[in-house]
Amino acid sequence: MRRAGLVVWGAHQVARGLVRPGATTGDIDAAVEAFFVEHGAIPLFKGVPGKVPFPAVCCISVNDEVVHGIPGPRVLGVGDVVSIDTGCSLGGWCGDSAFTHPVGEVTADVQRLLDCTSGVLQLAIDLMAVRNRWSDVASEMAKYVRDHGFSVVENFVGHGIGRSMHEDPQVPNFCTPAFRRNHDFELEPGLVIAVEPMVNMGSKKVRALADHWTQSTIDGRPSAHFEHTVAITDAGPVVLTAPPANGEVVGTAESAA
Ligand code: MG
Ligand code: MG
Repeated sequence: MRRAGLVVWGAHQVARGLVRPGATTGDIDAAVEAFFVEHGAIPLFKGVPGKVPFPAVCCISVNDEVVHGIPGPRVLGVGDVVSIDTGCSLGGWCGDSAFTHPVGEVTADVQRLLDCTSGVLQLAIDLMAVRNRWSDVASEMAKYVRDHGFSVVENFVGHGIGRSMHEDPQVPNFCTPAFRRNHDFELEPGLVIAVEPMVNMGSKKVRALADHWTQSTIDGRPSAHFEHTVAITDAGPVVLTAPPANGEVVGTAESAA
């Protein structure tokens, strides 16, 4: 899974390098697709079933778009924020992660939203080392976002990941009594989850657009999304979609083995 995660990390470096005023979201998607092909990885998002199959290898969601935006001719401009979510499989194992980037200079409030969202993802990873149950992590995530004056999206959650991109358990970024009672899970070695907080500047509510995929905030205010694939090991949580370390290379399952 680390090898798949490294390729996802590499794809995000390609995407990040293309985020600038004047770029289209379709350009970014095409570059990520080429990167996956070049590294022998299978994109996970293209063809995901829905009313229409998802048509691209990345979900690219701009400003008030929360998740599941479809890349295309939209041109990025200064002050936009662009959430890029992508995943691939390599050697039969999956990786999935997301980042939200500012395009040029953004307002201080928008930068605070980005910092809060990446911050709550890091908080979750840190807490996975010291808490035993997900409900305790999720409660602290929700409190962190609330304390920043923003709202956690509740319509979408993280997920288990392994041979498939979406596996049990569901991994919410908030905690309800019903979750604690019926769906909570232990953070034990061997568990791998995609943790993916989505944070809105205004209302937590979202609505689907007419393209059947894009989810937008109901009030038109901006949203941010950060995600990592995280394994619990005997030595604690390990971010499988983190940058290469200790001589690791981004490559095919064969060349990296
Ligand atoms: Mg994702
Ligand atoms: Mg995911």
